[in-house]
Amino acid sequence: MKSLKLTPEYEHNQQLRIKRFFMAAGSYLMWMTMAISLRYMGIAQVSWGTMGACFLAIFFYNMLLYFTFRSGLNMHFKDPSLTLFQMVVGTLWAMVILYHAGQARGAMLLLYLVVFVYGLFGLKMRQFLVLSGFAIVNFSGVLLLVYLKNPHVFNVRFELMNLVVLAVVLPWFSLVGGYITSLRQKVARAMETIERLAIHDDLTQVFNRRQMFQILEREKALGDRGVHPFSICIFDLDYFKRVNDTLGHEAGDIVLKTVAQAIQKNLRDIDHIARYGGEEFILILTNSGVSEAMQCAERVRRLTESLVFDGLPEGFRVTISVGVTKYTPSEDIRDSINRADTALYRAKSQGRNRVAYEPAPLATTACGQERTEG
Ligand code: GH3
Ligand code: MG
Ligand code: MG
Repeated sequence: MKSLKLTPEYEHNQQLRIKRFFMAAGSYLMWMTMAISLRYMGIAQVSWGTMGACFLAIFFYNMLLYFTFRSGLNMHFKDPSLTLFQMVVGTLWAMVILYHAGQARGAMLLLYLVVFVYGLFGLKMRQFLVLSGFAIVNFSGVLLLVYLKNPHVFNVRFELMNLVVLAVVLPWFSLVGGYITSLRQKVARAMETIERLAIHDDLTQVFNRRQMFQILEREKALGDRGVHPFSICIFDLDYFKRVNDTLGHEAGDIVLKTVAQAIQKNLRDIDHIARYGGEEFILILTNSGVSEAMQCAERVRRLTESLVFDGLPEGFRVTISVGVTKYTPSEDIRDSINRADTALYRAKSQGRNRVAYEPAPLATTACGQERTEG
């Protein structure tokens, strides 16, 4: 039986947003517990009925938020995490509790910090400061309402002290919080760079060998399950040593980069190119049988011989030789690569600037007859 999941599996960021939503919903539970304690001890001057109505409103507000995240409606907003919005609403609820908190008002100021902690998930310093101003104005409003309701028991010195504490702590929290947010963003950007560097080849900017094996393993899993077949092409630049020897290593680098990027642009979005090593590259052609792979190999071969290279002598051209094979379900991925290599070797020995195909080895069927893959 399929289990019911509270967070969606399809998108990592959306999962994170929903996890944060649950943390915020947990904070509301904590607030409600505190509100009940205040009322139970006779400190909060509020009827059980009003309190129940507030709890119901909090419940529906949270259900609405959860629906917004689960349905993806949040993606229509500039900040899909709705962080600032949730914090503004939290500040308003803090206002309601503080209004009724009586002598515990000073201690209950901590509620603002509970709200502000969520800003560390992404609020900029300016937003933090604006929210501080909003909270301070709100709290002043609360004090005014408390005073108007019962001016005789209003302790001006205590309440002003509460306001001063808030007016100092929140802006300070905003400065530190904004700084933490900017650090987090720097770390996130650094992580993105590291992830990009880890899977790309420095010179040609196509996938590196490690990422190539990752993609091959994924394709193998799909191929073994019969989801779709895939083919592999290995190509190698012809007489590349001569390029280095006659035009220099730098020119050789320009050639490698230009060829790799031109071929990458020429592939379908679902296909991949990776640098296998030196001047050898692999094409992983998703959902492609032999004839599609041969067509693709021939297309990139012709594309390469027509390429013009910036900064190199006019009329300078390079060619490639390509070895093609199709993955056979359940085989070791290295066997497929070796087969493509054999085809490449044949293309070289037959004169270069050509495509050669190596069929899968003969397999014995259940009837005892032999057949070839293709
Ligand atoms: P063939 O047609 O048989 O492939 O001849 P070839 O000269 O291309 O063959 P070989 O594999 O002997 O030469 C490959 C050369 O590629 C040798 C090496 O110096 C050069 N090479 C490998 N990696 C790089 C690189 O990153 N930059 C440059 N400029 N050259 C590289
Ligand atoms: Mg070569
Ligand atoms: Mg080579």
